Amino acid sequence: MELPSLLVSRQLCFNDPVNTTPIHAPIALHPTPFSSTAFNRAISLQPAFNLLLLRTIQNPALLTLISSQLAKSDQFIFKLFEIYQQQSSLPLLFFNVNRSDYMVEGDRIFQIELNTISASLAGLSTKLAELQRERFLAVLIPENRASYQIGEAFDQAIKLYKEEYPCSTPAVLFIVQEDERNVFDQLHLINSISSPVIKRTLADPSVFSVDPESKRLTVDSHEIGIVYYRAGYSPEEYRSPLYWQSRALLESSRAIKCPDIASHLAGLKKVQQVLTDPETLLATMQQDQFLTSELRSSFAGIYSLDDTIEGERNCAMAISDPDRFVLKPQREGGGNNTYGPQIRTLLLSLTPADRSAYILMDRIRPQITPATIIRSALITEINAVSELGVYGVIIAKHDTVILNQPAGYLLRTKPEESNEGGVVSGFSVLDVPCLQ
Ligand code: ADP
Ligand code: MG
Repeated sequence: MELPSLLVSRQLCFNDPVNTTPIHAPIALHPTPFSSTAFNRAISLQPAFNLLLLRTIQNPALLTLISSQLAKSDQFIFKLFEIYQQQSSLPLLFFNVNRSDYMVEGDRIFQIELNTISASLAGLSTKLAELQRERFLAVLIPENRASYQIGEAFDQAIKLYKEEYPCSTPAVLFIVQEDERNVFDQLHLINSISSPVIKRTLADPSVFSVDPESKRLTVDSHEIGIVYYRAGYSPEEYRSPLYWQSRALLESSRAIKCPDIASHLAGLKKVQQVLTDPETLLATMQQDQFLTSELRSSFAGIYSLDDTIEGERNCAMAISDPDRFVLKPQREGGGNNTYGPQIRTLLLSLTPADRSAYILMDRIRPQITPATIIRSALITEINAVSELGVYGVIIAKHDTVILNQPAGYLLRTKPEESNEGGVVSGFSVLDVPCLQ
């Protein structure tokens, strides 16, 4: 089969983990049928989720309560919370690039999670949509300007930084992983940002300099306007105390953090569970009834496994009918969830205190569709399910929202029997929807 030119170019690549040469990203060869009602609903909800994130960090009592509980049994959250507590106030300038992920049952969308740190794949999914809209009926494949819109948001955030702290050309600092594989995805985004971009890892705090008075952050004497994390979301990445020193130092600077430490904590799955409580959500949304009910319309059932009577009851419910649920710890990046009979085994092995670091979620069963995927040069026919991600960008100064928009999408498709969802981790493939 002859492949279109883009498929064999570097535009749709990752780095191979072993020898860091580019390998092609796994993709679905044809667009996947997808409910247009569900798609449009997910896009239209994004500003509400952006705002929910801002309102969550403006509710420090809630973040403190949840994080301090989790910190008792989770060293990673303990360290994040420690940095959070070192901040005396909320950041003046707020910028977040997030992605809200959904699965669809019928025409109804259910949020899987809100990624508030390192929401990746906007670059590659923008490129794939451009390609597939050339190959297939463009009217049925929604335009995807994700990496351009996110780039424009960076430009706007830099402009805000310059208004606040006059300087000539502040740079964007990308914090990346040592063995970063997603370099091409990042490159598409970098190409959409007008400011200079500097890439560093968290390994060496001495490369970051923060002026003790002004809190101005410089790298190689270049002033940094935005620190953008494409790393730092899982414990294994912090290979020594130096990594934590870097994170704390960057957080203490006046540069805009994307995300700031509070927004990182606000993306915890435990926060997602707590916010399913209608009163907590309404209070966090500062009594906005309309947006509260809009948000709630996309929530799946999520249950606490706290050391309480309710947690005990939810635990018993999961043990008696594990196929109904997904069990999730407070981790990001794929490969962490438990399904089916293993939920029972795991729950029975945990102490009530350890159990409270997990959340229980209704398992969503999306429609199964046939798909042809290409992965590691092999073309395979699979029975597939898909997960839609919607990117969101929000900029605020103190309480004034300056930008609040959806910013394109990501569709991932995976074999029906696969439980996890990551593309770089090899579970799913990049795809585009064919709306119907
Ligand atoms: P992570 O932070 O590891 O990405 P997620 O909550 O996104 O955690 O879960 C990983 C994957 O597990 C998702 O991409 C999805 O494929 C699957 N998954 C998560 N929650 C559910 C659910 N409630 N129902 C069905 N599948 C789910
Ligand atoms: Mg996920």
